[in-house]
Amino acid sequence: MLEYIIVTVFGLLIGNFATTIFYRLPRNITICGINQNCDQPPFCSYCRHLLKPHEYLPLLSWFSTFGKCNYCNSNIPTQYFILEISAVILSNSCFYLFNGITDLYILIFGFGVSCLLNILIYREHKAIPQIITISMLFWGAIYRTLTEQTIILWLSTISIAFIISLFLLNSKFNDTFRSKCIINILMLTSVWCSQEDLTLYMLIITMLCILWSFWKQLDLYSLSILTLFCITISDAILFLNQT
Ligand SMILES: [Zn+2]
Repeated sequence: MLEYIIVTVFGLLIGNFATTIFYRLPRNITICGINQNCDQPPFCSYCRHLLKPHEYLPLLSWFSTFGKCNYCNSNIPTQYFILEISAVILSNSCFYLFNGITDLYILIFGFGVSCLLNILIYREHKAIPQIITISMLFWGAIYRTLTEQTIILWLSTISIAFIISLFLLNSKFNDTFRSKCIINILMLTSVWCSQEDLTLYMLIITMLCILWSFWKQLDLYSLSILTLFCITISDAILFLNQT
């Protein structure tokens, strides 16, 4: 029971930190955590009034503000709530699925929160922050090395993805935002998706593309990231059962 309380609190803290990244990263504002002495301490995103600790700490902030800013009465963005709750659910699910706070718990939980951040920033700002992609690639390399016990496989797939990305950047495609999205998905897939799962992933993406050709409102980018995450979870469970 105590362990579930610990992972819930951990999930809340990471979810709360993710809200800071979600707001600050696309706007190039310094991310300084709970340090009140930094040049940009926590503030309301509408009236920019500085926040007291009980107004920005996870969960506590929702009880002390009731979803509204105490100074300008603006609604706190729903994405903040989604990030905090999702991080708690994810933290508890990973704890249950991967038998405690293990390597797989840390890697899959970190990947899940990053995927969510990636999707929310993409949907809100139509941007893909490179720093999140790089950190996801880094986590992915550790994950594949752990599950495959070799660096050769992910090194070869990331190399192929890199060459295709260079080709895309040098083609006529290079000035479109869509090419950045494709490169992002390509690089993440090359590191996170094992070769056994690649066929399944490609099949799902092809089906999504066909669906998208009929229904253009379909968020192909977010669904691709979500599919990658689901496939990775099943891969991690399979790995756990084999060991
Ligand atoms: Zn305010």
